[in-house]
Amino acid sequence: MDFSGYFAQACEANGIIGAVERSGDFGRLHAMLVEFNRGVNLTAVTGEREAIIKHYADSLTALKYLPQRPDTLIDVGCGGGFPTLPLAIVRRDIAFTALDSTEKKLRFVDMAAKELSLGVKTLCARAEDAGRDPAHREAYGIVTARAVARLNVLCELCLPLARVGGVFIAMKGPSGLEEAREARIAAAALGGEISETAQFTLADPFGGEEMERVIIVIEKVRPTPEGYPRQYGRIAKKPL
Ligand code: SAM
Repeated sequence: MDFSGYFAQACEANGIIGAVERSGDFGRLHAMLVEFNRGVNLTAVTGEREAIIKHYADSLTALKYLPQRPDTLIDVGCGGGFPTLPLAIVRRDIAFTALDSTEKKLRFVDMAAKELSLGVKTLCARAEDAGRDPAHREAYGIVTARAVARLNVLCELCLPLARVGGVFIAMKGPSGLEEAREARIAAAALGGEISETAQFTLADPFGGEEMERVIIVIEKVRPTPEGYPRQYGRIAKKPL
């Protein structure tokens, strides 16, 4: 079976709608990832079927939590472009900003976005600095983060970037429900309110282990108070 066949199987097994039509773009993204990864270590996951599940399908599980209208999205700690690149391939109506503090990973995101004609800009910055910068503070309708920090810390990195009325979508593993309980106070202090916690398994139709996932949706209901985000050392040492 070729890449498109495997990709279609992964989408079907995980109820992912609207991506199969773009399987050619995902095939090109995968070829670029494998090639770039020879020079710069973006990920340990490069095998075709493993990457389809752990990078592309996993990123696409966030699709159904995105608002249906055109909007702006900032992906905090995007690394090699996850979930940004898979989401941008499917949602051409959203303007994406991929933020990370590591410039060499963003070079890949820039290159892939250009090759695939995606609406993705990159921003090399620390999230807590962007959250205090008037150009980015409360400027985005959607904030995403996958595999960046524990949720109480992540709330302080991400919620200041969401505008009131927007959402923060956190993509988590098995500890997600416990992290959501722990982060309620942090979310509220930063102007957020947890509106949904969805627990599901990421299915692997190729015989790998099923993986437990939790997506937490936090609505931005009030402006973030002036003193936040704090310096990273304080956020990490004394999470809200
Ligand atoms: N989201 C990607 C994924 O799921 O493959 C990358 C995950 S990687 C484990 C975490 C990334 O978050 C790293 O690329 C790191 O540079 C970035 N990061 C961590 N804290 C950050 C911060 N405060 N500001 C910006 N980037 C940050």
